[in-house]
Amino acid sequence: MVLNDLGKKISGALLKLSKDYSFDESLLNQVLKEISLALLQSDVNVKYVKQLSDNILEKFKMEEGSATNIKKLIQQCVVQELTMMLDSKKQPFSLKRGKPNIIMFVGLQGAGKTTICAKYANQWKKKGWRTSLICADTFRAGSFNQLYQLAMKIRIPFYGNITETDPVAIAKEGVKIFQKQNYEVIIIDTSGRHMQESELFDEMKQIYSAFCPSECIFVMDGSNGQACFNQAQAFKKAVDVGSVIITKLDGHSKGGGALSAVAATESPIIFLGTGEHIDDLETFKAESFVRRLLGLGGMIETVSEVVDLESQKQSLKLIAKGQFTLRDLQQNYKSILKMGSLNQFISMIPGIQNINQGQISQKEQINKIKQSLIIMDSMSNDELNGITQITQKQLFRISKGSGQPIESINQLIQEHRNFARTLKKLIPSIKDCDSKTKKN
Ligand code: GDP
Repeated sequence: MVLNDLGKKISGALLKLSKDYSFDESLLNQVLKEISLALLQSDVNVKYVKQLSDNILEKFKMEEGSATNIKKLIQQCVVQELTMMLDSKKQPFSLKRGKPNIIMFVGLQGAGKTTICAKYANQWKKKGWRTSLICADTFRAGSFNQLYQLAMKIRIPFYGNITETDPVAIAKEGVKIFQKQNYEVIIIDTSGRHMQESELFDEMKQIYSAFCPSECIFVMDGSNGQACFNQAQAFKKAVDVGSVIITKLDGHSKGGGALSAVAATESPIIFLGTGEHIDDLETFKAESFVRRLLGLGGMIETVSEVVDLESQKQSLKLIAKGQFTLRDLQQNYKSILKMGSLNQFISMIPGIQNINQGQISQKEQINKIKQSLIIMDSMSNDELNGITQITQKQLFRISKGSGQPIESINQLIQEHRNFARTLKKLIPSIKDCDSKTKKN
């Protein structure tokens, strides 16, 4: 994600504080200047940048006397202020089990709405919800086929009608069918529209009032930067935008502008689109996002949504003690498969954002993980728990049991050692992360 540059620049500015022992207000001003510049370069609105800088200065002055670690205090202020900027304070809508939750997607044409509908559907399906997709976009010629193809790929029921020109009629029919079949998440993709296109805006209002959807999600193209502010306001005025998804944050330095423009909707950001692939979707939690951006880790908050929090905490404690077994690797690999993305997992581990990126494709990484899990399934409990060593004899047994070549097993054992070594180096930041969860 290009926003990583912002994280690196802010972390770089904060690093100055740890190097300089004779800390004074002029050094703080210099650091704040660098942080502000980094935010402005990421297209964050100048008003928010000024506010953030003023607030940090004020907090610093208030707490200076009692603070023992100036760097930590400033780091905390930066995290708090950036989090406040990105946090709408509103709770996102939570889907209700056993009920038809109708979710309507709106946004400008080309924002990535259709792609996001499929990504969003896929992640609910993965969590075990009965999910369906409706194409009510009668404006863009290719949208029916695009959503149909995506729905087939992720094996989610689809409804659309290429001969019908009234989107309200299509949506009504689709909702009727899926409601009857007890679908819990019914997603409606609507036509993309520009804020000047009043007809299309009226059509969007009609669909909205025909269903009063459980949630209306505004999809915003992150590469539009601050221009998103006016669009977001126009959509908010027309329909009750409940939450926001920002797309295309994988390739654009204007991401900061889009993120801060969300304030115009007064609605929480729920996901970020970070690529064209179906799994390129990240859950958004403001503080976790900011911490990750600054390389401070944000693992627990996000991973906990898909994996057992208690076992993660236990695992982190053992890693902090320098113990990372094949069993831990197995558990983490299973979590990655649940999340569907290795890069997403890696980016949540403090300090190791850049490992493995760009070397092999996401698909290859996932296939490799699947192969490793097959191998580990053929290991005994003692081997997985690091109680017995894997000797030549055991290698043959595992190879026979898993149907995988000896070289792949040796490669996995080597990878486990490398991973354990990397994690051991990260003990301080992992401990930070652990103590943070205890406080929560
Ligand atoms: P719609 O008109 O709003 O429905 O937009 P589409 O879903 O058709 O997306 C428009 C283009 O953006 C397509 O080429 C998508 O593959 C691409 N796209 C969508 N989301 C992302 C994303 O998160 N990152 C990148 N790089 N491209 C995306």
